This record gives sequence, structure tokens and C-alpha cells, in this order.
Amino acid sequence: MRLSGDFMRWARDRLAIVLIGLAAWCAAAPAGAASLRLNETLCHAVSGVEQSDSSLSSLRFACTGTPAGYQQGSLWLRTELRQPKPRSDLALMVHQSRFDRLAVAFSYADGAVRWQDVRQGDYGSRWRAGGQIAFEAPERAAPLTAVTMRFDRLAGHEFVHARLLPMDESSMQSAGMAAAVGAVLTLLLVGGIYSLSLAVAVRRQYLAWQAAWSATMILWGALWSQVHLALVPGMAGTVSAQTCTFLACLAIALATASAMTALDRSNVPAWLRRVTLCLGVAIGIAGIPLALMRSGNLGLLSDILGVGVLCTLLAVAVCLGWGWRRGSPEARDLTAAWGLPMAVLAFINIVDVDERFWGGGSKLLVLVAATWQALWLAAAATRRLAHLRIERDRARAAEAQARELARRDPLTGLPNRRGFMEGMAPLLERARADDLPVALLLVDIDRFKSVNDVYGHEAGDAVLCRIAHQLARWESPACVVARLGGEEFGLLTVGMAGGALDRLAGDICCEIAACDHSDAVGDRRVTASIGAAELPPGRDFQHLYALADEALYEAKNAGRNRIALRRSASASEHAPDGFIPKIAVSH
Ligand code: GH3
Ligand code: MG
Ligand code: MG
Repeated sequence: MRLSGDFMRWARDRLAIVLIGLAAWCAAAPAGAASLRLNETLCHAVSGVEQSDSSLSSLRFACTGTPAGYQQGSLWLRTELRQPKPRSDLALMVHQSRFDRLAVAFSYADGAVRWQDVRQGDYGSRWRAGGQIAFEAPERAAPLTAVTMRFDRLAGHEFVHARLLPMDESSMQSAGMAAAVGAVLTLLLVGGIYSLSLAVAVRRQYLAWQAAWSATMILWGALWSQVHLALVPGMAGTVSAQTCTFLACLAIALATASAMTALDRSNVPAWLRRVTLCLGVAIGIAGIPLALMRSGNLGLLSDILGVGVLCTLLAVAVCLGWGWRRGSPEARDLTAAWGLPMAVLAFINIVDVDERFWGGGSKLLVLVAATWQALWLAAAATRRLAHLRIERDRARAAEAQARELARRDPLTGLPNRRGFMEGMAPLLERARADDLPVALLLVDIDRFKSVNDVYGHEAGDAVLCRIAHQLARWESPACVVARLGGEEFGLLTVGMAGGALDRLAGDICCEIAACDHSDAVGDRRVTASIGAAELPPGRDFQHLYALADEALYEAKNAGRNRIALRRSASASEHAPDGFIPKIAVSH
């Protein structure tokens, strides 16, 4: 247990170092890329969609103000390249967004213009893992002077993110991004499968929500990063972007459900729980119309959605804090798991990182944080399960000990009547299966009351213990020995009949009579009477007990310190060889 706890700590620390290292490495990627921003490096123009691409030269671009009315038309964004040595080995990386068509014009110093375009449902070979579309400037002798993007029916200019970077760097970034996305999605998949199997194994609802959340994040990650286009190229563009919006909202709802079902009802006030769940559900539902929208004020709505998401996360944080204060271990685990994603969401709301991390920006950060959460929760659930397993093992051991105590007589250590019943059940079963005879010997100490009366109860106890110890030596896989009560003992044997049984009873009687009790009762001799009964295979135990009891009564009446045998079928009176006490055998 200690080992597994240490391992968890070690793994957690290593994971944190790897994630921080990965983030730092991405952030510090070669900064040869230039972000294209409206009114800083981009001028804009709006036209109808029917206007041809060749009208570029006649367009009048504005480099101030905000473009409007382009949702049903075309938005043109143009950047002039003012480098000292203009180069043509440049690539334009544009984040995918909601548009019908994106055409890119590379303008050269000799007046030539080269067009490339993609449409929703067909990005051809231009899509890159990491949610970007790559346009590489055709190699020409003349240097590049300007790059123009033309978006037809763009949902919102706020969502346009574009970067110009050297071609070799763009390839390097695309490869790095593909590796990062692949690693993160694989880890999320592992975390999701693990949560699902845990949910099934331990029947915890929150783990099922967690698995559903992981599945949603995997889908979202695959769609955002466009890796799905390798399989379904027809989803390129708007359909993917719309599905991503819906999945992002659904993920918030599922994460909220997971956190709320993990917390014990008694640890969080019902109203707070209800408000948080309602917020989560509202975000999930809001995702549907937002995903379906093609025009309208998407920018404003996404800002409102962002505030809603922050409110939900805040409510979840309050619930977790509340649960933590009340000592809920789930709240502690969830806070640690959610800490990073919450910090990331707050960070990307304050700092614009959309052009960082190889162009993966905030989305890649969210995906990394989600992976952290999935792995952390899986690790925490494993740790708690290990605790539970240890507690369960302890409870089982305590239960077994209690059961053993309940079936043992505390004075002599022999099984008591209950233990006798439990112990003889498999023997009777065996006798029935193998068609073996069964015999019962009831051993009762003679005039034991007077031992107590003369020498005291403690001396009586010592005598009982010694005789019990003597009888315990007969215990075997074919014989159970027990103290049935007071000064009466029982032995049940299987497979012993006739002369063998006579000899056993005689030996026991002799051994008891030969026991040395001088330390307790001086030179008083302690004897016992034995009532033995033998049944042919197939007869029931009640019958056997009644016969043995009758035999014991008979032995007592006949003068004690003797054996009476009852055989159900036939009977004969005899004394075993070398046996001193008298034996009465009756039919
Ligand atoms: P008999 O030969 O007819 O069996 O006579 P007896 O005195 O042995 O039988 P009786 O049933 O009259 O007395 C049994 C005595 O066993 C009574 C009781 O005080 C004593 N006894 C029962 N359990 C214990 C025990 O745990 N310790 C001690 N010291 N005595 C016990
Ligand atoms: Mg007695
Ligand atoms: Mg008795």
C-alpha cells in the first residue's frame, strides 16, 4: 500500500514535469511565424459572393474599422509583405472556421497572382492536424508582395486566426502538432477506457460520467484538430466546427455531472448542487442552437457562452470546496484533477494564446488540461480503490475471526455446538456421497457436579480443559470433536463401524479415566460415560443423535464409566479387547 502510494506520488510528479515541459517546449517553438491581425497587419474589404476572384485588383481595402455585412457575402483580408528581403517560400496557416469557401491569393512583385482555395467539405490535401489549413506559396523567381484571404459566407471575423511562416517551419510545426495531438488523444482514450472499466467494476456513477466526458473530449479533440479528416474528408469545415461547438458544451455538462455525482449528497447543500447541475445542463443545451447557427452575432453569443462556462466552473469549484471542508475525499481528488483545467480556462480567457503552441493555441491547452484531468482522476480512483481493497480485506479477516470465535468454545478451545453442526455438515455429505456409515459418540463426565462442589469451579474448569485436550487429539478429516455443552462432548465419525467403533469408544473412555488431574482434584479419579450410536449410510442425523442420547442414558443408568452402543440394524453385547469399562450394546 505504502509502495503504491509512493508510486502514485512519483507518477504524478513525473506527469506534471512532462506536461509542463511539453507546454514550455511548445510555447518556445521557433518564433518565425507572424500572426495576421485585423487592422494591424490585415486590411479588409467586403463584396458579394458572386464577385470573381480576379476582381482582387479593383477592390478597395480599409485598414481601420470593423468589417460588416460579410456573412452573406465575401470578406477579403489582405496583408502586404514589408520585409526587407521579400521571400516566396512562405506558408499561410489558417485556423479552420465556419465558412463556405476560403481562397488565398499570393501576389508577386512581377504582378502575378496565384490562387489556391478550399471549400467546406473539401480541404483536399491542405488540412493539417491542429485545426489549421496550410496554403504554401508557389515557388517563383519574383518575391511575394502580398497575401489575400477571401472568405465566402464567414460566420464571424473574430474567429479568423492566420499566420504566415517559413515553409520549412510550417512543416515542422504540423508534424509536431500531429504528434502532440496524437499523444494527448491516446492518453485521453486510455483514461476514458480505464474510467469506464472502473465504473463497471465498482459501480460508481461519477466514473461513468467521467468516461462519457473523456469520450466527448476525444471526439472534440479529433474534430478540432481535424485528424478525423483522414477518415471523413467530407466533414471538413463548417460541419466539423459546428459539431465541435456542440461537443465542447456537452463536455462541460458531462464534467459537471461527473463532479456532482462524485460528491456525497450529505457533503454539499442540495440547493448548491441543483444550481450547479442546472448551469451545466444549460450549457449543454445552449450548445445545440449555437452549433446550428451559420450567421447572426456569433461572436457575442460565444462571449456569453464563455461567461456561462466560467459561472458553471465557479459553481463546481464552490461545491468541491464545500465538500473538501466537510472532509470528502472525492472533493479533494476532483479539486486536484480540475485545478489545472480551471486554471487553463481562466488563463486563456485573460491571455490570448491562440497563435502560440504551434498554432494549436488555447484548444491544444484545453486538450492537454483535459488529459491531465482524465489521468489524475483515474489515478485517484485507483488509489482510493486500493484503500477500499485493504479495508475490505481487513473487514473480511475480522468477520472470519468473529465467525471462528462464534463457533468455538472459549474455555476449552473446542468447537461448540454451532461449530459441531458446521463441521459435521461436509462429513455427512461425504458419507452420503460415498455410502459410508456414520457414528456419534456422546461423552459425559461422571458426577461432575460433585467435582465442582468439592474442589471448586476452577478445578472443574481445569478438568474440563484437560479432557477436551485429550479428545481434541481424535480430530481428523473423518472425525469432528466438540463441546456440546456443560460437561458433555461429542465426536462424529465417518467410515467407522462395528469393531473399529467399539475400539474407538473404548480408547476414549480409557484415556479419560487415565487422565491425571492431580493438580486440580488431588487423587480423585474422573471418569466419563459414552453413549455411541452407529447408523448405516443414508439415515438422518436427528435419528443418530436420539440413539446416542439413549445409549448415554443407558450407560449412566448402568453405573457410569462405561460405554453403551446403539446400532440401528442389529446389536450385540461385547467388550472390546483389553477394555476395562463395561460396554452395553443394545438393539
Ligand atoms: P452425571 O454423572 O449424571 O452426568 O452427573 P453430573 O454431576 O456430571 O451431571 P449434572 O448434569 O448434574 O451436572 C453437570 C455439572 O456440570 C453442573 C455444572 O455446574 C457443571 N458444569 C457445566 N458447565 C461447566 C463449566 O463450564 N465449568 C465447570 N466448572 N462446571 C460446569
Ligand atoms: Mg455428567
Ligand atoms: Mg451432563
